[in-house]
Amino acid sequence: MRVWVLGSGSAGNAVVVESAGTRIIIDAGFPVRELAKRLLAIGVSGDSIEGAIVTHEHTDHVRGVCAAARRWKWDVYASTGTIAGYPLLKDICARPFAAGATLELGDISVHTVRTPHDGTEPVAVLATARSSGARAGIVYDLGHVPPSYRKTFERLDILVLESNHDEGMLRAGPYPPSVQARIGGSYGHLSNRRAGMFARDCTHAGLAQLVLAHLSERCNDPRIALSSMRDALARTDFRGAMSAASQGATCGPFLAGRAHSVWGAGQLSLEL
Ligand SMILES: [Zn+2]
Ligand SMILES: [Zn+2]
Repeated sequence: MRVWVLGSGSAGNAVVVESAGTRIIIDAGFPVRELAKRLLAIGVSGDSIEGAIVTHEHTDHVRGVCAAARRWKWDVYASTGTIAGYPLLKDICARPFAAGATLELGDISVHTVRTPHDGTEPVAVLATARSSGARAGIVYDLGHVPPSYRKTFERLDILVLESNHDEGMLRAGPYPPSVQARIGGSYGHLSNRRAGMFARDCTHAGLAQLVLAHLSERCNDPRIALSSMRDALARTDFRGAMSAASQGATCGPFLAGRAHSVWGAGQLSLEL
């Protein structure tokens, strides 16, 4: 399995997941011209992507999806609530699902998980490669981490996790109190501290890649987010690589598979 983050933050999010010839994209929050540029940068052609999953209707996740679906003939999937919240998705015949559903897209099984966020029916995604068993979690835009996530996102190879803001920087930052309350509230965005608590809960020796995502440009800094996460994981068995996705540039591919099949003897034939 390979995962790329095409960019992440309040101005746009998109994540490409590939396994055994299947490519999907989670969110398409950039204008289609920008998406095309970023796909070119990672050497992936838009028409090689077969499906797009929209996590929720906020502009930074949905902006380019309709134009991209028309241009590259993507099948688009979104929760019923997300389609209600962004009716343009009906024009491209987006296929509705209920948060909690699992979608089968070629080699990739996409399990959706309801997130506590101020969208209509937002979801996080657990992508599992059917051929190799590799698992990637894409977990962003959530105000807190529900207790059930620890089990849902166990034994991941790759975790793309929101680490939106430093709580002190949010309090001291430029936003008025109402916006601060929205961002820091339990249906807003995950702080560095809360991201660290969740990563500590679900980390294991096989977690190869931890990618911090959706960093605020005003109330966070990649060095602060990474250092906070390093502290949180200091006494765990996490031995993987850690990085912070940025708004302006792509990152990846992050690899999962053969080299990291440490958790089960039944999975020794894992492939990249
Ligand atoms: Zn967002
Ligand atoms: Zn959002």
